[in-house]
Amino acid sequence: MYDVIIIGAGVSGAATARELSRYKVKACVIEKEEDVCCGTSKANSAIVHAGYDAAEGSLMAKLNVRGNQMMEQLSKDLDFPFKKNGSLVVCLHEEDMPNLQALYDRGVANGVKELRILNREELKEMEPNISDQAYAALYAPTAGIVCPFNLNIAMAENANANGVEFKFDTEVTDLKPIDEGWEIHTNNGVFRTRYVVNAAGVYADRLHNMVSEKKIHITPRRGDYCLLDKSAGNHVSKTIFALPGKYGKGILVAPTVHGNLILGPTAIDIEDKEGTNTTREGLDQVIERAEMNVKNIPLRQVITSFAGLRAHEDGHEFLIGEVEDAKGFIDCAGIESPGLTSAPAIGEMVAQILKEKMNLEEKEDFIATRKGVLDPNTLSKEERMELIKEKPEYGNIICRCEMVTEGEIMDAINRPLGAKSLDGVKRRTRAGMGRCQAGFCSPRTMEILARERHVSMFEITKSGGDSKIVTGTNKDSL
Ligand SMILES: Cc1cc2nc3c(=O)[nH]c(=O)nc-3n(C[C@H](O)[C@H](O)[C@H](O)COP(=O)(O)OP(=O)(O)OC[C@H]3O[C@@H](n4cnc5c(N)ncnc54)[C@H](O)[C@@H]3O)c2cc1C
Repeated sequence: MYDVIIIGAGVSGAATARELSRYKVKACVIEKEEDVCCGTSKANSAIVHAGYDAAEGSLMAKLNVRGNQMMEQLSKDLDFPFKKNGSLVVCLHEEDMPNLQALYDRGVANGVKELRILNREELKEMEPNISDQAYAALYAPTAGIVCPFNLNIAMAENANANGVEFKFDTEVTDLKPIDEGWEIHTNNGVFRTRYVVNAAGVYADRLHNMVSEKKIHITPRRGDYCLLDKSAGNHVSKTIFALPGKYGKGILVAPTVHGNLILGPTAIDIEDKEGTNTTREGLDQVIERAEMNVKNIPLRQVITSFAGLRAHEDGHEFLIGEVEDAKGFIDCAGIESPGLTSAPAIGEMVAQILKEKMNLEEKEDFIATRKGVLDPNTLSKEERMELIKEKPEYGNIICRCEMVTEGEIMDAINRPLGAKSLDGVKRRTRAGMGRCQAGFCSPRTMEILARERHVSMFEITKSGGDSKIVTGTNKDSL
């Protein structure tokens, strides 16, 4: 019998697990995929929003601003990349200035600090590649960029270090109320728990609707992206948003914490909760709208495209709290953008609800910090030489584009909640994320995975399940 079972190991589930692990509690995270960060949390813009978008007085606004305030310290405590690079909302036409002013006013009402409206000259000075048509912009210095994978992984690893269990490849198929809580049916056995947290992303409506007569509905809202090579990473220094207007909002141009340039996303409502394919029309729209705000984008440097699905709840609000007609079932649903930014605050809020319900006591031995995979690039030449002497694997480059060593890949595999697949290694170390998109390093990473996990190359997958890579040997086909 668990005290709490959290369904979903995305950023909401991991943040909840981490905050909950401050208390004396028996908790477990159940995830249908093979790893943490396999849903929406792995495919988004990675912006730490300042907080001027969400409606005044909404939970979304409150948690956005709080999450933004928490992110910097959390990035230090849990060792994941974060940069406060600031954001600009660009207004192209003088007649749209009231809309820019309204955004400013909403930001101030939401508690966003240091907001400023810049005129064309100030804007040009700040961002030389901004469109010549730009008239003014809303500047938010508190906005930032983050590594979404490592934010998610770091919180999960830290929760695990503090005693939270994780069960992967375990899909919740049914939930039944029992005397003291809930019985959770999965493809991997039955679990019992006093409280359930529903952090299942685009699937949160299905789980909610299994236990409640007050139905909710989540639409997967697809966002397509283009990612550009690091050679384009300095094209802009701030995150450049379009002013919500006749072309809608949303297509941004931003640097990433790893030095790439990202363009996107679209906003296309679909039915398929797994529909993360990009489309020609979607990518055309990304490029067309990105070029309205930023000039001379080096589009020949696009190295990949991808799409993510926002969990758009009909009321466009975060639904967090105990479900009225399902005692002990806590929703953490409708977590669309700014969900990544808000995650630390979402975790705090859900943990607080559970603390009050169960009267939880704080642990004396909570481990507040965690160290990520060691990146030798952060060391001095002397320190690096010393490391390589001690562990020669740190002198063996496996991913040439991102300069990832065998030592880092071994660390990513062998740490608690370590990588089991090529994508798992990629999210933790960036091996395969560079300009050749894993063309060179895949077989070498697979060899390391097979060796470290003591399995055959035939067992190595791209992303768990049946995504096996080796289908036979050459000689078999002769
Ligand atoms: C295009 C796009 C752009 C975005 N940009 C930003 C941004 O710049 N800044 C920002 O703050 N936010 C952004 N977001 C929002 C942010 O990415 C999400 O709010 C956040 O990642 C949601 O996290 P989650 O943990 O709730 O969901 P997910 O990450 O989807 O996690 C849910 C998990 O539940 C698991 N699951 C589902 N059903 C079951 C089941 N039955 N049994 C077991 N496990 C199950 C899934 O496999 C998944 O791992 C963006 C989102 C998108 C799509």
